[in-house]
Amino acid sequence: MENGKQVTDIYGQLVFNDKIMRERLPKDVYKAVHKTIENGTHLELDVANAVAAAMKEWALEHGATHFTHWFQPMTGLTAEKHDSFLSPEPDGSVIMEFSGKELVKGEPDASSFPSGGLRATFEARGYTAWDPSSPAFIKDGSLYIPTAFCSYGGEALDKKTPLLRSMEALSKEAVKVLHLLGNTDVTGVVTTIGSEQEYFLIDKEMYMQRKDLLLCGRTLMGAPAPKGQEMEDHYFGVLKPKVSEFMHDLDEELWKLGVPAKTKHNEVAPSQHELAPVFETANVAVDHNQLTMEVMKKVADKRGFACLLHEKPFAGVNGSGKHNNWSIQTNTGINLLDPGKHPAENIRFLVFLMAVISAVDEYADILRVSVASAGNDHRLGANEAPPAIISVFVGDELAGVLKSIEEGKEFNGVGKTQMEMGAEVLPHIMRDTTDRNRTSPFAFTGNKFEFRMPGSAISVANANIVLNTAVAEALEKIYEQLKDVPSERLDDEIHALLKKLLDEHKRVIFNGNGYTDEWIEEAEKRGLDNLKSLPAAMPRWISEKSIDLFTKHKIFTKEEIFSRYEILLENYSKTIHIESLTLQEMVRKDFMEGLISYQSAVAEEAGKKKGLLPDCVCALETHITQKLDCLSSKILKSLERLAEDTESAEKKTDALERASFYQETVLGDMEVLRSYVDMAESMIPESYLPYPTYGEMLFALR
Ligand code: ADP
Ligand code: MG
Repeated sequence: MENGKQVTDIYGQLVFNDKIMRERLPKDVYKAVHKTIENGTHLELDVANAVAAAMKEWALEHGATHFTHWFQPMTGLTAEKHDSFLSPEPDGSVIMEFSGKELVKGEPDASSFPSGGLRATFEARGYTAWDPSSPAFIKDGSLYIPTAFCSYGGEALDKKTPLLRSMEALSKEAVKVLHLLGNTDVTGVVTTIGSEQEYFLIDKEMYMQRKDLLLCGRTLMGAPAPKGQEMEDHYFGVLKPKVSEFMHDLDEELWKLGVPAKTKHNEVAPSQHELAPVFETANVAVDHNQLTMEVMKKVADKRGFACLLHEKPFAGVNGSGKHNNWSIQTNTGINLLDPGKHPAENIRFLVFLMAVISAVDEYADILRVSVASAGNDHRLGANEAPPAIISVFVGDELAGVLKSIEEGKEFNGVGKTQMEMGAEVLPHIMRDTTDRNRTSPFAFTGNKFEFRMPGSAISVANANIVLNTAVAEALEKIYEQLKDVPSERLDDEIHALLKKLLDEHKRVIFNGNGYTDEWIEEAEKRGLDNLKSLPAAMPRWISEKSIDLFTKHKIFTKEEIFSRYEILLENYSKTIHIESLTLQEMVRKDFMEGLISYQSAVAEEAGKKKGLLPDCVCALETHITQKLDCLSSKILKSLERLAEDTESAEKKTDALERASFYQETVLGDMEVLRSYVDMAESMIPESYLPYPTYGEMLFALR
């Protein structure tokens, strides 16, 4: 730590958190804000004025000159526009001003953000509204105020609004069920999230030399290095000094911003790492994850690195994900997914567990859409990541519990056993009965579920919106079936209902290895979806079932659902369009520059040789030249093909048709072109190539 400071000194020092509010706000104002945060009640303007005044004073003391409404438009990134507190006086001086109105509402006139047709051009303006449940903070001299972003008509144009709506829906349904089960003191629940963030670090100079990384975030070509991740020597390996310094800086910056960064380690692929935070309320956790990604990039840049957040920056080595650890907690402090010591007797736990399992089965396709992106398509279904099939892992103990429910028998438990490590000196550890299954896309991990499909670059808001809503719906169904049951029969009826739900949804439970071909076949037999790409999954988003779910729980209106459909498809096509153009340019310019200069060097060499030895056959030079020449013509042909197909894709007017064409045809063309380029690249010495190779990028960091 800098200047002998401790973590406790710096943690949250740039956050207008609860502690600061308690210290600085008049008691009644503090209470009113708290009521708003806890119960979602409306905030009066005089309260907002008092909060704004305190915020401004605090921000000025910390060197801030500006404030910004910080929001998350549907690009999946964050957006900000800064205004200074400055207000000129008639005498030529200035005062610093910030009103409750400015705190509560903003009009960024952000008319260029995607709205999927939700905003007519004559009322293109978007509005931001303060979200008091996520604390304001200071970054780069500005006071950041987390806000929701909506249109003039109140339609959500962002990811925060529906997330908040979904949290409220889940809370409402969970409370109804809890009251039925006798937990009448509970008045609300929150979803908790801890999202583990994977990323790559590479040398900044090298990054700057690759147009594909600069423009697309992933390499579009590049022959594999002789070494990949097969030695498994990077995972949890010793941190290299420069990387360790980066992680240290990153932790410190995040702690100052009140982001509870907790764990850091090397990941499976070379140059791949992970950061995991302590879990928080979903809304705050999503904001903090966005902030984490941003700070990662900034700190990397300062330390001479580029931080790659793309889901598949390098072919042939693992991609990056964002494991979304998810649970539900009551406002009385109970984690509803904690099985306790005797899960079989824990009716409340079993009800919530079955609600989640049935929700995931029922809405697997929509959950799949929630993690779909052009980048994540490269990862889902590949060897390192869960396949595109959604299944639920519950572990041995819960599998036993569920089996006993199914068979109507008593559960005798699997019991914890002691691990035998063969050395007396080692502590005696009890074996965990919820052992990890790293191949499952949706795994129960002790007292939470871990959804492993979200991509590393995208906001986890979508995944949690769908998860919360689907579980809210499952809970509502459970409530409807139990609400009129007399109390003396409630236990029996709950058991009967659990058995029924299990019968209906057990197909989604899978405890085996999800990476095998057998599972793909088995899943098909079970009737589980295997939606391999974004265009294949998108029609499910606008299905009747999806519209019913979201409109019933007031998460999205039909218009909002369709606008998101358009935006996702547009974004997908645009991404691949840019990738195609970038690949074409890199091949035409950068790669060919290397190819031609190497070929002419070889020819020159051959000429020299002939001068010395007129009879020589120049076997090596001839071989190289012939091979490269043959590849060159293939490259030119595939380049032409890619250019033509990309043009055809752009001519398609229907968004789904265009995206499908990009997926089925253009991506394929890019693969073919790349394969020839990579073959040629592997023959050309590094010194002739104007960009760094895989080997240099993945292994050169110290
Ligand atoms: P693991 O269970 O994978 O061995 P951890 O217990 O450290 O590891 O948890 C991994 C992630 O899950 C962390 O980000 C952690 O904060 C988060 N997590 C733990 N408990 C919960 C919970 N109740 N709700 C949401 N996330 C949680
Ligand atoms: Mg992980």
